Amino acid sequence: MLRTHTCGELSKKDIGKEVTLCGWVHRRRDHGELIFIDIRDAYGLTQLIFDPKKDRSMHKKVHELKSEYVIQVKGIVQERPRGTINPKLSTGEIELLAGGLDILNPSLTPPFEVDKKLEISEETKLKYRYIDLRGSGMQRNMRLRHKINSSIRGFLERENFVEIETPFLTRSTPEGARDYLVPSRLNTGKFYALPQSPQLFKQILMVSGFDRYFQIARCFRDEDLRKDRQPEFTQLDVEMSFVDEEDIFGLSENLLKKIFKDVAGIEIPVPFPRLKYSEAMEKFGTDKPDTRGTKHAGENNYSFLWITDFPLFKYNKEEKRWESEHHPFTACKEEDVNLLDGKDLGRIRARSYDLVVNGAEIASGSIRIHKREVQEKIFKTIGLDKKDAARRFGFLLEAFKYGAPPHGGIAFGLDRFVTIFTKSNSIRDVIAFPKTQKAVCPMTNAPSDIDDKQLKELHIKKAK
Ligand code: ASP
Repeated sequence: MLRTHTCGELSKKDIGKEVTLCGWVHRRRDHGELIFIDIRDAYGLTQLIFDPKKDRSMHKKVHELKSEYVIQVKGIVQERPRGTINPKLSTGEIELLAGGLDILNPSLTPPFEVDKKLEISEETKLKYRYIDLRGSGMQRNMRLRHKINSSIRGFLERENFVEIETPFLTRSTPEGARDYLVPSRLNTGKFYALPQSPQLFKQILMVSGFDRYFQIARCFRDEDLRKDRQPEFTQLDVEMSFVDEEDIFGLSENLLKKIFKDVAGIEIPVPFPRLKYSEAMEKFGTDKPDTRGTKHAGENNYSFLWITDFPLFKYNKEEKRWESEHHPFTACKEEDVNLLDGKDLGRIRARSYDLVVNGAEIASGSIRIHKREVQEKIFKTIGLDKKDAARRFGFLLEAFKYGAPPHGGIAFGLDRFVTIFTKSNSIRDVIAFPKTQKAVCPMTNAPSDIDDKQLKELHIKKAK
């Protein structure tokens, strides 16, 4: 190890010890001959003192140090003189009197100072994301996100769930957006679609006998980006067999309770209140009401609410056809099944649900159709004839022939959840390497041109 301690760890009890720290030069202050440097790593800051009286040769090196140089310092921990104690810092009662310095790597002057709350453009922050990520805010967010993921995995494992990865190179999974397409070199003229969600695979896993599946899954949707959207994002995707709505609600509530307890030490009351879609629209004019301060609110600062009984279909006036409100794999209420043969399709209620917190939708799911004939009927209703349905979803319809169990599930938008949890302004603050609103990565310059050889191999010609 190049270090004996981290920069956030030394305290009064270490006074007199000889230690070695590694990290980045955070700030430097020259007080006459004495030079003070804050050294920073992922765990915090420690104040270093370089006293030329103690070691002249080292002093030449100290004068070279600039912001973000990577250094290794040996020294003795000493108490800070009275009046210089910094109560805001975990190491604020001590300092390190340096006795040895090694420059492990110099640095150019960074385009912005780590942790300085100056107005920096999003573009610059993302171009130099590695510097932005060094800041305490991003460090905190990424670590918290990791803790949330561990808490999820721990909880679901205890509940007997199995984490299964589903493919990225697949066929279209409709969730209401455009697909990202990947040309196939080995199958000329054919394309894979990146999954908009693992929806169809998780249903097929139910047919495969995995009755409790989850995945922290990347999803890809090519849509115009709003503040809280990214072209690729992460869902906690869950599916269960032999369940009804109550099982999904109970599992989700206990999962959230556990995450809040583990990660923030907050007790959130469960069960969450519920509101039917029609009531939400009538009372709040939206299906994502912010119920803080209303009689529907629980809870502390987090006001969770289930919205249930969504319509199964909505009418697309432009295209003059019915389309699925959630996705076409959602079952309808038993009592409304007979309406499927009528004209009044808008009245059919779905067995779907959304979870809303403080006015933001953080999860959505449904009990699924598991009977082939019903699934075919739904496809027909949304304008897919038998041939189309077979071409696009034949594999699902085929699987339904072989004993598909009743099943249902839910998916949580993890990025949005972590944004709310960390009280961040944007989901870009909780994703290590996000894209801009134009779906560009300023650090890697993706998307990029590709060379003619690659295009040729793929049998693709650019139109312009
Ligand atoms: N696949 C759905 C979605 O991405 C969630 C679900 O129904 O489980 O919104």
